[in-house]
Amino acid sequence: MKILVVNAGSSSLKYQLIDMETEKVLAKGGCERIGIPGSLLKAKGNGKEKLYEQDMPNHKVAIELVLHALHDDEIGVIKSMDEIGAVGHRMVASGEYFKKTTLVTPEVMKVLEEKTFELAPLHNPAAATGVRACMEVMPKTPMALVFDTSFHATMPEKAYLYGIDYDDYKKYGVRKYGFHGTSHKFVSSEAAKYLGKKPSELKIVTCHLGNGSSISAVDGGKCVDTSMGFTPLAGILMGTRSGDIDASAVEFLARKKGLSHADVITYLNKKCGVAGISGVSSDFRDLIAGAEKGNERCKLALDMFAYQTKKYVGSYAAAMGGLDCIVFTAGIGENTPTVRAGVCEGLEFLGVKLDKNANAGKNDGSIREISAKDSKVKVLVIPTNEELVIARETAEVL
Ligand code: AMP
Repeated sequence: MKILVVNAGSSSLKYQLIDMETEKVLAKGGCERIGIPGSLLKAKGNGKEKLYEQDMPNHKVAIELVLHALHDDEIGVIKSMDEIGAVGHRMVASGEYFKKTTLVTPEVMKVLEEKTFELAPLHNPAAATGVRACMEVMPKTPMALVFDTSFHATMPEKAYLYGIDYDDYKKYGVRKYGFHGTSHKFVSSEAAKYLGKKPSELKIVTCHLGNGSSISAVDGGKCVDTSMGFTPLAGILMGTRSGDIDASAVEFLARKKGLSHADVITYLNKKCGVAGISGVSSDFRDLIAGAEKGNERCKLALDMFAYQTKKYVGSYAAAMGGLDCIVFTAGIGENTPTVRAGVCEGLEFLGVKLDKNANAGKNDGSIREISAKDSKVKVLVIPTNEELVIARETAEVL
C-alpha cells in the first residue's frame, strides 16, 4: 500500500508518498504561499524535481496540484489515485480528546475543530484545513490523524500535572501534553534496534533539537516525561521561543512593554530564544559562525541551549533511576557537534563519555554512535523521520 503523508500549515502543505512494503519515499514536496500571491509547489519524484508556479488560493487547490504532480508525466509515480491507500495527517495537539492515532470521520472532525483548536491555534486549524481539503478531493480514501502528543500519553499524572488547582486542571485540561511525539517515538525505537535491545530494557533520553526543541524521558519504550508543556512554548529556549519562564515575569513583561495577553505570548514565541539572546539569528549556523568570530552573545545563546538541554538529561536520568542512552536528533541535534559536546560535558558522573572524533564526524544520514567505546551510556545521533512514523501509524490504524 502507498500512503500519502500530509503536513499542512496555514500557508504551506508538505507531503510524502511512502510505499509501505519497502518504506521508501516515492515522491515528496511542498506547496508554499498558499492563499498568498506567488504560490508554488516544489515537487520531487522519479529522481527528478519540478517547480510548479501556480496560483493556490486555498488548500483544496494545493492538494489538487499535489495529486497532479503525483500523476505527472515527468515526475509522476502513480497512474491512478486508487493507488493511494490512505492519507496520514500530522496534527499537533490532541488535548485529552485523542490519546492515539484516529481515523477521520465527521464526528472526529467535529471534536477536533470544537475542542482542540484553542489548544494549538497556530497549528491545528491549519492542519484541519488540509484534512478538509483532502476529504473534498479524495472522498473515498481513508484518512488518519496522527498527533504529536500521542507518544506522550503514557506520562504519569505526577509528570504531566502543573501545580495548579486540580479542579481547574479537570475543568480546563491545563496540563503538560508534550510535542514532537512522532520524532521521540521514532528515534527511541531506532536506538533500541541499533543497540540490539528490546525497548523494554532501555532508559533513553531523546533530544529533539531543531527550530522547536524538546527532550523526552523514554523508559521501557514509553514516554514518562517531556520538556514541552501545555503548548510548544515550554522547556528549553529554542530558535525564537523563550522556553520556561516564571509566569509572574510574563505579566511583568506585558505591563512594562504595554502588551496584551495575546501579544506577550506572541513575543515569547517569536522574539525570544537564541534569536533574542544573541540578537543575531535563530539559526544555529549563524550562531556558530558568530561565536567563532568572537560574538559573546552568540556564544551565550549556544551555552544556554546546551546547559538547559543538559539539565533535562540529568533530571530525566534521575526521574528514570538510570540512563542507558542519549539520542540527538533534528536539525541541530543531527548537525551541530558543539551543541552535543556542550550537552554531554559534565555528564561523566552519569557514565557519559563522548568520542571527540566520532562527534565531529559529518552527518551522512545514518545512525552514528558518538560515545567512546568504554562509555557506560551510549550516545547516538539518529536522523528523525516523522513522516515514516505518520505513515506507519496510519497503516496500523487501518
Ligand atoms: P529543524 O527544525 O529540525 O529543521 O532544525 C532547524 C535548525 O537546524 C536550524 O535552526 C539550524 O540552526 C539547524 N541546522 C540545520 N542544519 C544545520 C547544520 N548543517 N549545521 C548547524 N545547524 C544546522
